[in-house]
This record gives sequence, C-alpha cells and structure tokens, in this order.
Amino acid sequence: MPIYEYKCLGCDHLFEKIVKLNETPNCPECDSGELEKQFTVASVSTSRTRAKSFQTARARANSVKKEQDVAQAEYERKHIEDHH
Ligand SMILES: [Zn+2]
Repeated sequence: MPIYEYKCLGCDHLFEKIVKLNETPNCPECDSGELEKQFTVASVSTSRTRAKSFQTARARANSVKKEQDVAQAEYERKHIEDHH
C-alpha cells in the first residue's frame, strides 16, 4: 500500500497517510477533505532520507570495522611483544 503525503488546503497541515485504493483521507487536524497530494515531493524526500540513513549506517559500519581492525592489530602486536 502506498503512503502519500498530503497537505491540507484548509490549515496547511502536512501529514502522511497510507491510502487504500481510491480512498480519500481527511485532514487529521481540521477534518477537511480538501487535500493536495504531495506525491512527488514525498517520494523524493523519502528516497533522499533513505539514501542519507543508508550512508550514515554504512559510515558507522566502516568506523566500527576500522576500530575493530585497530584493536585487532594492537592485540596482535601486544601478543607478539609479550611472547618475545
Ligand atoms: Zn487541515
């Protein structure tokens, strides 16, 4: 089911709603049925948000990996030094 972003023409309230086929939602703020579907804006901002959080997650994973590598290298170095 698609999620659409709507802007209420009555009170300018922006909201997202899962909309069943041919169902028209009402504004949750003022119950107005005069809504402007923000479909394009919503899909662009959503994919941007996804890309951003993906990047953040990947950057975080990379830095964790780096820390693990450093810790591993340090451990090995100490281990070798201890046994000399
Ligand atoms: Zn409204």
